[in-house]
Amino acid sequence: MNLVGEISIVLVEPSHPGNIGAVARAAKTMGIENLVLVNPKQFPDRQATVRAADAADVLDHALVCTSLGDAVRQCTFVAGTSARTRGLPCLQIAPRELGRQVWHELERGPVAIVFGRESSGLSNEEMDLCHSATTIPSVSSLNLAAAVQVICYEIFMAAPQRGSFPGSTGSGDVLAASGELELLFEHLQAALLEIEFLDPKQPRQLMRRLRRLYHRARLTQVEVNILRGILSATRKAASR
Ligand code: SAH
Repeated sequence: MNLVGEISIVLVEPSHPGNIGAVARAAKTMGIENLVLVNPKQFPDRQATVRAADAADVLDHALVCTSLGDAVRQCTFVAGTSARTRGLPCLQIAPRELGRQVWHELERGPVAIVFGRESSGLSNEEMDLCHSATTIPSVSSLNLAAAVQVICYEIFMAAPQRGSFPGSTGSGDVLAASGELELLFEHLQAALLEIEFLDPKQPRQLMRRLRRLYHRARLTQVEVNILRGILSATRKAASR
């Protein structure tokens, strides 16, 4: 199986079509050809095609979504990138480590690498969807396509056989995908409000901390079902 096909580069609200083309080219030089665009300001666009050069086919096959949640719904590992480190960070992974991690994750499911807006990067709510955050050490912020190039280079260099990888671990434990985790978080929030553990007037980053905990745990589908079963039973007991 060619696992490199299970890696997607996701761009959130890119404002310059030229950057989209430059990203397609950067990714394709490293063998990565799946591009997902969340609310691009202008796409398709001639500037994008010009800057993509030989990677125009990557643009032709690009998917366009209206939210990051939709873009990563099927993915079992979502890696965010950020020009700066944040207040309540998720797991920080250096670019080199991310390259290795991606190949490990591909044995278990599709992987998305998420890049933010040219002007303001990714919002905290978008980072909440990520299992990890990677910052490329630099003196100042990199251009979007330059950041994609560095990350794709690290993935390329870490490839066990430059772009292919033998089958899965076959452990039988299927990881929950991003969309399944989001349903769990909604369920959890509703239950915590109902039992008055979560105070809507003083949420104190509780949901963000719990998301971080569950993301770190790498829950399987079976584990998500158990947790949701517990939440349903808790709500039923609380309503009695
Ligand atoms: N002013 C913005 C910069 C965004 S640059 C900010 O402060 O967030 C656009 C995107 O390029 C970022 O969201 C990130 O995905 C990527 N990027 C830029 N510099 C980076 C760096 N040093 N490390 C990792 N990603 C970077």
